[in-house]
Amino acid sequence: MSRNILHVDFNNFYASVECLQHPELANVPVVVGGDETARHGIVLSKNEIAKRQYGIKTGEVLWKVRERCPNVVILRPHMERYLEFSQLARTLYGEYTDRVESFGLDEAWLDVTGSGIFGTPRHIADELRDRIRREFGITVSVGVSFNKVFAKLGSDMKKPDATTVISETNFRDRVWRLPVGELLYVGRATQMKFARLGIDTIGDLARFDRKLLGTLLGKHGTMLWAFANGFDASPVALANENGTVKSVGNSTTMPHDLRCEADVRLVLYAIADSVAARLRRHGLAGSTISVSIRDCDMFTFERQCKNNHPTQLSGEIAEIAWSLFRTNYTWMKPVRALGIQVSDLTEDTACEQLDIFGEVSRRMKKGELEHTIDSIRNRYGHDMVLRASLMTAPELTGFRPAQGNFMHTTPIIRN
Ligand SMILES: [Mg+2]
Repeated sequence: MSRNILHVDFNNFYASVECLQHPELANVPVVVGGDETARHGIVLSKNEIAKRQYGIKTGEVLWKVRERCPNVVILRPHMERYLEFSQLARTLYGEYTDRVESFGLDEAWLDVTGSGIFGTPRHIADELRDRIRREFGITVSVGVSFNKVFAKLGSDMKKPDATTVISETNFRDRVWRLPVGELLYVGRATQMKFARLGIDTIGDLARFDRKLLGTLLGKHGTMLWAFANGFDASPVALANENGTVKSVGNSTTMPHDLRCEADVRLVLYAIADSVAARLRRHGLAGSTISVSIRDCDMFTFERQCKNNHPTQLSGEIAEIAWSLFRTNYTWMKPVRALGIQVSDLTEDTACEQLDIFGEVSRRMKKGELEHTIDSIRNRYGHDMVLRASLMTAPELTGFRPAQGNFMHTTPIIRN
């Protein structure tokens, strides 16, 4: 049976939320970014004026933006606000379907195949746009299609505040003329390989010989070929009913690709620090630790392992993540992004019941230490307590995840 899938994408998400708080900035170019004084501070989000009148792009370096557009207003991000909007949106989507899968903070897929009672998929898409505009004060674009990949593509085709339908009958006309780089999971490196094969559009990819592509580019190649032809059967994940947090994690895209183990280790320790702080803040501990690794080709994979007790200690989380990385990464390519997730969560009071032979008291002492660190950081700022190892490479670990104003980092809370 054919499916009906929506992909909802908030327009200029961070910038839109910031502009809601600052109505006086309605007609000014606004950028949300990292630290302007740091050379690697980049644009995380921009409003329509910054985009249209000044051509400011996400990922651009802030000092260059300032040079070109001296009157730009640069605001620091407030992740906790964005998280709040994200959760409100999930609640709204839940009124239409229980199949809601978040993709970052500002995007989500909804499977509305069984939601006919609310109208056609296009009607649901328009209603969602309307409601989000009225109830949240910001706009979204929605793609409607029979699979996730095309739904995502659709939400990108008309912005802001628009619905685009890509159907089984019109996808060849609508999608195939687009540059192949717009397809989900086609990174810059893959795009370059495609270019050498004469594949410039999604249509070129769809019509390319599947077997040959498999030989040249492996599984990734045949997967993308299938996407281009509309053969994407991946389901929209089922949201859990009570809306409790199922995992806590952070990931970070490095300012430059990593080529050595020492740097990876540093970054993993910094991420673990932030994840552990968030676990403690929510009073949670988890026993499954996963590490996600993205190479410079945008190829991402995840490895996980089960710890014999739930933990919220950054040292423990970091060590497990680090050993997962070491046993699973072969260094065929430099590393572009890293993430750590902790799942199988329990309330942290349950931790102690699982103890044997005094292990607990050792861990509790560590726990007390980390709680103390949290409270010092809350009162005096994150920099008051830093792991000595992290201070050796501040450009890699200089984000402040626990406080949510970090630059390249995305909090992941999966429901
Ligand atoms: Mg968006």
